[in-house]
Amino acid sequence: MIGILGGTFDPVHFGHLRTALDVCEALALEQLRLIPCHLPPHRDQPVATSIQRVSMLEAAVRDYPVFVVDQRELGREGPSYTFDTLTSLRTEPGPAGLCLLIGMDAFRGLTTWHRWRELIDLCHLVVMTRPGAEIPAQGELAEFISQHRVGGAGELRQQAAGGLLFQPVTRLEISATDIRMRLAEGRSPGFLVPEAVREIINRETLYQGRQ
Ligand code: ATP
Repeated sequence: MIGILGGTFDPVHFGHLRTALDVCEALALEQLRLIPCHLPPHRDQPVATSIQRVSMLEAAVRDYPVFVVDQRELGREGPSYTFDTLTSLRTEPGPAGLCLLIGMDAFRGLTTWHRWRELIDLCHLVVMTRPGAEIPAQGELAEFISQHRVGGAGELRQQAAGGLLFQPVTRLEISATDIRMRLAEGRSPGFLVPEAVREIINRETLYQGRQ
């Protein structure tokens, strides 16, 4: 199975990387694609350029062959809809199973996503939770959960799409917004991002005085 983690990665940090590695290990994924978005439909535009965000991602995962930076959304015009990205991934050869990784916060907003009900026909959903996290118990999302939830990674392997798994991951309270704010205040992003990413931020004087 292949895992997919989309995001702005402005910049990539250990919150993204450790949790993605947790899922890789728990699900024995063959590969984890990190897919930086071009025009995030739900949010402000990134501060760093696409080229800079890709450079930071490539530098961050250099020593981890299971992680692959996938630039397909950067080459597409218009908003980066997950539905389109999954459709495009489905046209490629490789392992049939696709697992879309999303944080619990993003999952709670799933019903606002473009063609959200069809996403599960294209992939499994792996919702990264903190241990003991509260799972939505009411409304459309609760109904969706009861239709698709599986008990473990083994069940996901039996089909190419259609399963929903809640996967506990290491909790790291790191956000890109906080890192950009620190840099704007002249503070260091050290130990929140890989050293190779810190070096690029310094070299390109990224996020400094721009918040
Ligand atoms: P920003 O602060 O700019 O909103 P971010 O740090 O949340 O950025 P994104 O690039 O928007 O990073 O996140 C991409 C994906 O990574 C999302 O699914 C998000 O839920 C997840 N993610 C971000 N930070 C963490 C973290 N500390 N732990 C686990 N998952 C995270």
